Amino acid sequence: MTSYICATCGVQHANTDAAPAHCAICEDERQYIGHNGQSWTTIPELQKDHRNRIEQVAPNLIGIGTVPGFAIGQRALLVQTPQGNVLWDCVSLLDDATVKAIRALGGIAAIAVSHPHTVGSLVEWSQAFDNAPVYWHADNRQWVMRPDPAFVFWEGETQILLDDITLVRCGGHFEGSDVLHWSQAADGRGALLTGDTMQIAQDRHYVSFMYSYPNMIPLNKRAIERIVQAVEPFEFDCIYGGWWDYLVGSDAKAVVKRSAERYIQAISA
Ligand SMILES: [Zn+2]
Repeated sequence: MTSYICATCGVQHANTDAAPAHCAICEDERQYIGHNGQSWTTIPELQKDHRNRIEQVAPNLIGIGTVPGFAIGQRALLVQTPQGNVLWDCVSLLDDATVKAIRALGGIAAIAVSHPHTVGSLVEWSQAFDNAPVYWHADNRQWVMRPDPAFVFWEGETQILLDDITLVRCGGHFEGSDVLHWSQAADGRGALLTGDTMQIAQDRHYVSFMYSYPNMIPLNKRAIERIVQAVEPFEFDCIYGGWWDYLVGSDAKAVVKRSAERYIQAISA
């Protein structure tokens, strides 16, 4: 039995004797099947020619990405807090060097995900770090490709993980899409970690919100307003996106508001 990884989205699936015929994530209209058709790999295969780049992004914030880039190329973030570390999103590759490096940084107390596209081999990661609980919004439950007892399906609009860390459901990209609010980031001014719930624009002065990024399907006005309202009660000065160097470095709350206004104007008659 092997846990195969979809080579297009990078999500690891449940143990099977042979590679699965389908990846439900890639067959959904928010993703796509690779131009050369559905293909699969495994962690031992990835270990042969990939490694993880582990690098500080900001004080107490560590980025973890795979080199060379694999699947959708996201990088996870490890938030270090006095109560333990939270891994936000995940990557497909795990190896001994990564486990050693993350343990040296304090290990992983909990894993939380923005949405099902950026989860990689998170069950493998949970198991490597003492079965760390995996916080996954219950409204995205159908998109769990590898079930495991570590999953904690949280419901509703917010989930407090630690004193400094709250998950905030925003919806939009997925019904259970959320962001991670970290109150002690940026000298106490706060930050959001957003995955695909908010995508950093290339100019770093705006964010955007899409039902599908690769297939360019926008969201409607109601969905955009819901995202803004969800984060309104929280203070944040920075936004860390799901890819290296995707950063809004200051005044991020105003950035979210003006990005939403511009977007709604663009889709209005
Ligand atoms: Zn996505």
